[in-house]
Amino acid sequence: MEYNDFEMDFEDRLVDTSEIPQDAIEGDNPLRPKTLEEYVGQDKAKENLKIFIEAAKKRKESLDHVLLYGPPGLGKTTLAGIIANEMGVNIRITSGPAIEKPGDLAALLTNLNPGDVLFIDEIHRLSRSVEEILYPSMEDFAIDIITGKGQMAASYHLPLPHFTLVGATTRAGQLTAPLRDRFGVVLRLEMYTPHELADIIKRSASILGIAIDDDGALELASRSRGTPRIANRLLKRVRDFSEVISNGVITCEVAQTALDKLEIDELGLDQNDRRMLDAMIKYYNGGPVGLETLAAAIGEEAVTIEDVYEPYLMQIGFLSRTPRGRCVTAAAYEHLGYAVPSNTVQAQGSLFE
Ligand code: ADP
Repeated sequence: MEYNDFEMDFEDRLVDTSEIPQDAIEGDNPLRPKTLEEYVGQDKAKENLKIFIEAAKKRKESLDHVLLYGPPGLGKTTLAGIIANEMGVNIRITSGPAIEKPGDLAALLTNLNPGDVLFIDEIHRLSRSVEEILYPSMEDFAIDIITGKGQMAASYHLPLPHFTLVGATTRAGQLTAPLRDRFGVVLRLEMYTPHELADIIKRSASILGIAIDDDGALELASRSRGTPRIANRLLKRVRDFSEVISNGVITCEVAQTALDKLEIDELGLDQNDRRMLDAMIKYYNGGPVGLETLAAAIGEEAVTIEDVYEPYLMQIGFLSRTPRGRCVTAAAYEHLGYAVPSNTVQAQGSLFE
C-alpha cells in the first residue's frame, strides 16, 4: 500500500478510542499494566485505591464496590484487572449490553468465588430489570429468584459470596441514582498529560521491542488525545514508518513525518474532527448546534460524537457546550485557519492546565 494513498474511514480510524480485540484483557494484552506500580498517571485514583485495597486486605474483606468513569481508552478495564490482581482474586468481565436478562446476571453472580471482582463495562446500559436484581446483590450479597408463574410461582432467597463489583462507564450522569449510590468508591479518570503518555509509550515500546527516543515519544504523546489506547495504537503504526523511512528508530522527525502522512495533526485531530468542526463553522456559523442536528450533518452517530469526538475537543478548548447546543471556540477557528468572527466563544482554559 502506498502511504500517500492511505485513506481512513471511521471503522479504521487511528484515533478511535473503541476497544480492538487484542486490547481485551482476557486476550492477554502484554501492554496492559498488571500492578498499580506499573499503571502510569491517575495519581489521585491510584492513591485512593491503594489505601482501600490495603485496608480491605488487612480486614480480610472484599473491596467495596468501585465505579470508574471517564472517556473510552483511559484505562478503566486495565484498572479493574489491577484491582483483582492486587487483591489476589479472579476477575470476571462482562458488559451492560451483554447481560440481557436477570437470569444472565444471576448465573454470573452465583458462579463467583468469595472476594472475586465482577467487572461490568458500560454499566449505564444495563436494563432496568437487571439493575433491580443488582441492587440487593450489591447491598446484601443475596438475590431473590422467582420461578414459575401464578400459583406455581416460588421465590428463593439465594445467598451470594461477598464480591466486588467494578463498574465502568463513559457517562456517570446516565447511571440511575440508586445504582450510583451503591458504589462505595467512585473514581473519575482524567485525560493524561503528554508527559504521562510519553512514559506509557516508552513502556510499551520496550515491551514490543520498538526503538524510540525521548523526543519521538513526546511527539507521539502530544498527538494521542490524552488517551493511552490511542498512544499505543499510534506507536504501532509509526513503527511501520520508522522501519521504512529511517533506520527503525522513532525520532521526533520520524514521528512527525508519519503522523502527518496519517493526517493526524500536531494536536491529535484527524480528518473526522476537522470535518465536524468545519461543518459547524460552515453550516452553522460555529454554533450553537444541537447534537442530533450535528450528527445528521456529518453522518455520524450522536453517541460517537459525545463519547469519542467531544471529550478531547472540549479538553483542548475547541468546543464548548451551552444550553442551546455545541459551539466552536475561537481557538478552533484559528487552528483550522479561519478568521475568528467577533462574537465567537473564547476557549475556557488551555490544554492540560
Ligand atoms: P478503557 O477500559 O477505559 O476503555 P483500557 O483499560 O482498555 O481502557 O485501556 C486501553 C489500553 O491503554 C490498554 O490496553 C492499556 O495497555 C493502556 N493503558 C491504559 N491506561 C494505562 C496506564 N495508566 N498506564 C499504562 N497503560 C495504560
